[in-house]
Amino acid sequence: MITKTKDINSVIKILEKWSKKYEHPTLRSTHKEKNPFKTLIACLLSLRTQDANTKKTSEALFKVADTPKEILKLNQKKLEKLIFSSGYYKNKAKAIKHVSEVILNKYKGNVPSDIDELMSIKGIGRKTATITRVFGFGKADCIPTDVHVHVIANRLGWVRAKTPEKTEEQLMKIVPRDYWFELNTLFVLFGKHICLTRLPFCSKCVIRKYCKRINVKKSR
Ligand code: SF4
Repeated sequence: MITKTKDINSVIKILEKWSKKYEHPTLRSTHKEKNPFKTLIACLLSLRTQDANTKKTSEALFKVADTPKEILKLNQKKLEKLIFSSGYYKNKAKAIKHVSEVILNKYKGNVPSDIDELMSIKGIGRKTATITRVFGFGKADCIPTDVHVHVIANRLGWVRAKTPEKTEEQLMKIVPRDYWFELNTLFVLFGKHICLTRLPFCSKCVIRKYCKRINVKKSR
């Protein structure tokens, strides 16, 4: 499958403009703060919930504790209460405690920036690791690929891949490096509002003329 760089440039430029009216995902829109621990914890909180909940719970938690040491000082019940609205709060509280403990004890309180080191910590998968590296450390040498990035890249015909990991590998071969930082944010927003996983709004899609609509059987 051949995708011209010119088309990739056009899609990114259109989505950059389109995305201005939307609030960007929590701790992803900017890497100015460069606080990998907060990015990592916000990402763990964001699993299987809406961004509004992630924002609310991250803010509530970080007001009380935003370092591994401070998180470990919270008892389980208090932590669960703070992150309650993010859903799956019991499991998330356990994961946050475990991650904080490993970072404090094994890494002296500093989040490792290496993807493999991050993934060696129980509870951290590739998506969370790459989001932490790109948005927490500002090191855009990988492309965080969640379900939205995976689905949209395949529908556009940019990649042909069965898993997000394979999609990321193929994207890194064709997407100019300058876009690696923002691609996740743009596709996540676009996936939430237009190119929905189940039933995309192709009729109001601003990048339709660039899309091969691979495997799109039904749309609105
Ligand atoms: S045309 Fe449809 S499938 Fe293609 S990017 Fe737009 S919404 Fe998604």
